[in-house]
Amino acid sequence: MSFEAAAGPVPIRPEIAALAAYRPGGAAPGPDAVKLSSNENPFPPLPSVAEAIAESAAHLPLYPDNAAAQLTTEVANWLDVSAEHLSFGAGSVSVLMHLLNAISGPGDEIVFPWRSFEAYPLAVNVPGATPVQIPLLTDGRHDLEAMCAAVTERTRAVLVCTPNNPTGPCVTHEELTDLLAQLPERTMLVVDEAYIEFATDPEAARPLELLDDPRIAVLRTFSKAWGLAGFRIGYGITHPTLAAAIRTVTPPFSVSVPAQAAALATLAAREKLLAQVEKTIAERDRMVGRMRGLGFDVPDSQGNFVWLPAADQTDRWAAHFADHGLIVRAYAPDGIRITVSTPEINDRVLDAAAGLR
Ligand SMILES: *Cc1c(COP(=O)(O)O)cnc(C)c1O
Repeated sequence: MSFEAAAGPVPIRPEIAALAAYRPGGAAPGPDAVKLSSNENPFPPLPSVAEAIAESAAHLPLYPDNAAAQLTTEVANWLDVSAEHLSFGAGSVSVLMHLLNAISGPGDEIVFPWRSFEAYPLAVNVPGATPVQIPLLTDGRHDLEAMCAAVTERTRAVLVCTPNNPTGPCVTHEELTDLLAQLPERTMLVVDEAYIEFATDPEAARPLELLDDPRIAVLRTFSKAWGLAGFRIGYGITHPTLAAAIRTVTPPFSVSVPAQAAALATLAAREKLLAQVEKTIAERDRMVGRMRGLGFDVPDSQGNFVWLPAADQTDRWAAHFADHGLIVRAYAPDGIRITVSTPEINDRVLDAAAGLR
């Protein structure tokens, strides 16, 4: 590789030097302001989870179990997959980056929808692969026909985000199976299910049912529905050969002792957790209904967020919400994503939204 193009005192790879770092959601500027810009869980940690984390402090001088053996067993049992399909990382965004590192490099192409998760361009560029971004349809859904048409012999993977962050709709199971059937033999279909616990659409894709096909890779996280964003833990469910490659690429001991303890305790408390998720789903549906009633063209949301297609008004509307102490995520020139929170905060969002009409 040539470093001639890299200006400056350090020979940074040109494709990295050209990249913007990941931009996290804006923080709340004051005590009355609320951060609704990162799709975080609004509920405090469950006492049993907080206890497990506190107890794990006794093990802090020791490295974590690199294989996350107990967690692997629990997740495998819960999902009814064999342990060799699983790989864990510091958030599913890490697993995605390790996966793409394992399968792609310069000259390879990765096809993904846009607008979608902000980390995708980064995850594709880091191994030196070429991003091929396919615009969403106007209703916020993936344009699967165009994504399929963009596949070439250089395409190593097609990424699908379902429910899609930031617009909300799911890819249907039929769409996913059709897509898989059309992909070449050596092109992976990576399905990002970061928000799957919030999906209620009966047609929603069920990629785990397609796991017999070695091209299917599913990414999930404990960050959103499970409320562990602060710990950084997510996982991949893939063909065992890919899972092994992801483990090879993952820096040793990426999933910390307290993160493993927290994930185990969270899984053990999943009934309580899923009851919280039900509340968020009910609030999401209420917000979508009210927003539509106000005349906003809100797409179907299957995640814990709602999308306002604000177009050229994006920055102005985001500033309006900020004036009301609500920090939303602005993606100019497309729209605004607002995380569903508690009923009180959601009412504040709806009041502020009404002020835009
Ligand atoms: C939040 C999110 C992730 C994963 O986040 P981690 O905290 O790294 O697990 C992955 N994909 C999408 C679409 C997300 O919104």
